[in-house]
Amino acid sequence: MDVVLLGTGNPLPDPNRAGSATLVRAGGTQLLFDAGRGVLLRAAAAGTGPAQWAAVLLTHLHSDHLTDLNDVITTHWVQSFVPTTLQVYGPPGTREVVDGALAMLGPDIGYRLAHHADLTWRPQVEVTELLSGPVLETGGVRVVAEPTDHRPVEPSVGYRVEHDGRSVVIGGDGIPCEGLDRLCAGADAYVQTVLRDDLVRMVPVPRFQDTIDYHSTVAQAAQTAARAGVRTLVLTHYVPGLFPGQEDEWRALAAEHFAGEIVLGDDLTTVTV
Ligand SMILES: [Zn+2]
Ligand SMILES: [Zn+2]
Repeated sequence: MDVVLLGTGNPLPDPNRAGSATLVRAGGTQLLFDAGRGVLLRAAAAGTGPAQWAAVLLTHLHSDHLTDLNDVITTHWVQSFVPTTLQVYGPPGTREVVDGALAMLGPDIGYRLAHHADLTWRPQVEVTELLSGPVLETGGVRVVAEPTDHRPVEPSVGYRVEHDGRSVVIGGDGIPCEGLDRLCAGADAYVQTVLRDDLVRMVPVPRFQDTIDYHSTVAQAAQTAARAGVRTLVLTHYVPGLFPGQEDEWRALAAEHFAGEIVLGDDLTTVTV
């Protein structure tokens, strides 16, 4: 199984980092987790796109995790030559978000239907809302979900992908919690969005300080990984930002709590388990 960090950025626009999005390739099945800013640019760089994805799975409905969901919907639609349904999974509220995206795309959908004689169907999106338990099973790939703790953002979920005896966890945003521990138990790789509280505390902006409460710090992510017996900890969604030359500093902070492999880096960083 491959994990590709398509977007490692945080909500603030960064010329070098796309918004939150992670691709998992398992056998012949590809799954996209979250669809932040620029997801399809990075997907193209990774040689993939919406037509190849069995599903798009959202961890929560914060904008930085779904700004480009509309682009995924449109591109999936215009690149399909027979009616094809895009499968979207996410916590309760996902249907409202998808319906809103489709409403926003109304004029565009009308133009393309009027212009292309061979395009006779509207975008087809099937939404499945979930909180815990089995999510999907396809091509020997099994996905389960558990609730995570990203309060006051509720609900939020994390996912565990299993294939051929290997497992990958997509933790999403949030702080350590029982649901995350259940997902991570014995996982080969655990992908966690992280925040450096020591750096954020140095920025005297209340709105920025607020972010400390509901994100795992690097130390907390490492502690979750250690507690669960994870093999590889993958850090992403760097707050306040991971700049050139800082990787070792971030890795050292995690290594204080976790003895396994620690991966972090630029967009398109790939981990194979
Ligand atoms: Zn969030
Ligand atoms: Zn986020």
